[in-house]
Amino acid sequence: MKKKLFWLGALLAGGAALVLLALVLRTYLGGRNTDVYAYLRDPSSHKDWEVQALSRCADAPFLIPTEGYIGYLWQDSFKLFHPHQGIDIFGGTQPGVTPVYAPYNGFLTREPGWKSSLIIRVPQDPLQPDRQVWIYLTHLADPAGTSLIDTHFPPGTSETPVKAGDLLGYQGNYSGDPSNPVGVHLHLSIVRDDGTGHYLNELNIKNTLDPSPYFNLQLNARAASNTPPLCAARGSSQPLP
Ligand SMILES: [Zn+2]
Repeated sequence: MKKKLFWLGALLAGGAALVLLALVLRTYLGGRNTDVYAYLRDPSSHKDWEVQALSRCADAPFLIPTEGYIGYLWQDSFKLFHPHQGIDIFGGTQPGVTPVYAPYNGFLTREPGWKSSLIIRVPQDPLQPDRQVWIYLTHLADPAGTSLIDTHFPPGTSETPVKAGDLLGYQGNYSGDPSNPVGVHLHLSIVRDDGTGHYLNELNIKNTLDPSPYFNLQLNARAASNTPPLCAARGSSQPLP
């Protein structure tokens, strides 16, 4: 009897270890990681993966805010037990080169301590006009934390009106740890309001919205294919007049 229990326990422990191993492998090696690494190694040979800044897919409310490859999507799992709360657009350039523009009209705030981040208040969600939403943009600094945000928006900026297409700054690779920079990209997430006029914590995916309908692109990792997100049909990406 004791022996049977031992083997049952061993089997369960082995099974759990296998599931965990599969999860770790999928998180760090699978999914979109391979493509992101391939793009970062040689962006010039993957130009067909890139979206164009200031374009929009068909009648999407939001403009594409920067040029590059949308490597990671909403709900992607490249960190264990921490689904990605937004999208990452990789410019394939050095920090400070690829411009970042406002995707929509709103009111821009940069908290006093923010080196690389901005948030835009959108009083009327274009998809649900009875609510307010926020567009959070980050990684606009170099590895040392030198900001790449346009000088119009110094730390402490509060409620400055911006129009869709306004220049906000440049893509960077600031991670908070100078010895471990991330690939140069823009992180964008759409953040819920707490109901009293403040944004909720962007780090929790429950406080963010699926960006797909705002860009008219499949940006939900659970629904997307493994091919880079691009406008549905050729020619449907219309630059601003
Ligand atoms: Zn991100």
